[in-house]
Amino acid sequence: MSASGANLQSKSRELAGYKVLPWTGDDYTLGHRLRDGNVPAPPDKAEKTVDFVIVGGGIAGLATSYYLRDQNFVLLEQYGQTGGTSSGGNYRGIEYSRGAVCTSGTAGLKGQLFEQLNIKPVIIPPTETAWHEGGHWLKSVNGTDRFHQEWNRLLSEIDKHEKNDGDKLEELSFANYLSSYDKSFLGLIENLTKTFYCASAENVTANAGFFIIKTLTSDSYVFDGGNSAICRAITKAIDSSSNERIHTQSFVWSVEPSSQGASVVYSDAAGAVHRIDCKHVIVTTPPYVALRIVSHLPETLRSLWNQIEYGAFVVINCCMPKKVLQYPYQSFADEPYPFCQMAMAEAPYQLSGRYKPEMGSVLTVYHPYASGPAARHEVLTLNADQFANSMVAQLSQLFEPLQNNLEQIEITRWGHAIMVPKPGLSSVLNKANQVTSDWMTFAHSSAGGGQSLEGALAAARNAADRCLKVSVKVRT
Ligand SMILES: Cc1cc2nc3c(=O)[nH]c(=O)nc-3n(C[C@H](O)[C@H](O)[C@H](O)COP(=O)(O)OP(=O)(O)OC[C@H]3O[C@@H](n4cnc5c(N)ncnc54)[C@H](O)[C@@H]3O)c2cc1C
Repeated sequence: MSASGANLQSKSRELAGYKVLPWTGDDYTLGHRLRDGNVPAPPDKAEKTVDFVIVGGGIAGLATSYYLRDQNFVLLEQYGQTGGTSSGGNYRGIEYSRGAVCTSGTAGLKGQLFEQLNIKPVIIPPTETAWHEGGHWLKSVNGTDRFHQEWNRLLSEIDKHEKNDGDKLEELSFANYLSSYDKSFLGLIENLTKTFYCASAENVTANAGFFIIKTLTSDSYVFDGGNSAICRAITKAIDSSSNERIHTQSFVWSVEPSSQGASVVYSDAAGAVHRIDCKHVIVTTPPYVALRIVSHLPETLRSLWNQIEYGAFVVINCCMPKKVLQYPYQSFADEPYPFCQMAMAEAPYQLSGRYKPEMGSVLTVYHPYASGPAARHEVLTLNADQFANSMVAQLSQLFEPLQNNLEQIEITRWGHAIMVPKPGLSSVLNKANQVTSDWMTFAHSSAGGGQSLEGALAAARNAADRCLKVSVKVRT
């Protein structure tokens, strides 16, 4: 049996007092066929022609579709649900996140989009954060004890470094700026860095590290189910105009230039293979997928994208029928816990007065894995029952009532979840952005300045603007 099939469970199973639901997140079956060159024969002729094809229905693909909502397009998403790493689930009426949990602020494209979609985040201040550091729980970012003094010293030094070191902050590692801090404080910082980027402070840029400290000192903007709410709202808006435009369970095998623009080959849920032609194609998959599906990529782009490293993630949603954990919105655990960020999915409901006791509680826990094939193999071959048991045992050290109040656990795996912002990555991405073509625009969040909501919207806006130019050119 192949590694990918060895521990795939398709049904829920009862464990010590709680159920482990089927895996969610990445399904490696077709991706590994593509990797191994086991690709189905494509049809010669297109059965359909549209103006634009959007490949991938994560937040970048969905936002592109929203910006092109008055155009003739089709979006192809490999899974049954849109959202990608910003997707989510539901337990007793609580929407929870399987990936992106929040954003900061509503500046620029974000605010405009939220307003157009008529969705409003709940603003949660950093006083609703707890830290497990050196064996103790601490709250907020204000205080006079050692932890809070270290936090605020780092925050004020960041200000100075940003003024003095400028561009160097993309080339130097975060660890360069941490040498004078308390050991126990650094145990938390190390875990924070891993939970944001799947890498240690030594392996991420100073800018990336400073971003963590500034973000966690600011308000969090939280929707029901985290950023999955944005994906649900866009999907609903597009589907309400026509349910023919977003095609889920549509795995794209190839994207190539054609005399009219581009041609895309994909298979549907039943395995039937289709070809669709268009004037312009927008590829919103991560670069490692684009490298496999897009033909005629310039060698410079291939070599730049091949330099990117991806960390893996496992996200665990612990569902409880009663609210037994009286903790703030989010908590962070220090080393040696193998996980760090933990968020209460019911918090936006509570803070906006919509929470009802029968909704219970969902704790979302983020377990990062390092970049590289060894860690990805570990994620792929996890035994779900053993993993759930081990997580519950460790989480119960922090949240004692969890163990006896669980109803179910959902485990989500993301194989190439996060690009590690190692020194030099931004220059690689900037150079990659300069390589453009007439028939294809690359618009994954990483093309918009970083793998985040902001990056996804910037990439989507740029792609939509390019498409609109193509459209005008063809009509005139
Ligand atoms: C665990 C985790 C937590 C995160 N937390 C946050 C957070 O709190 N805030 C934040 O701003 N960001 C967060 N992020 C970053 C997140 O990745 C971005 O915010 C955003 O969701 C990226 O969207 P995207 O559309 O660019 O990429 P993706 O989400 O990677 O979307 C790509 C889409 O393409 C589809 N696809 C891939 N290959 C094919 C194919 N061959 N055919 C068809 N479809 C295909 C995928 O299924 C997916 O839907 C988090 C990421 C992870 C993994």
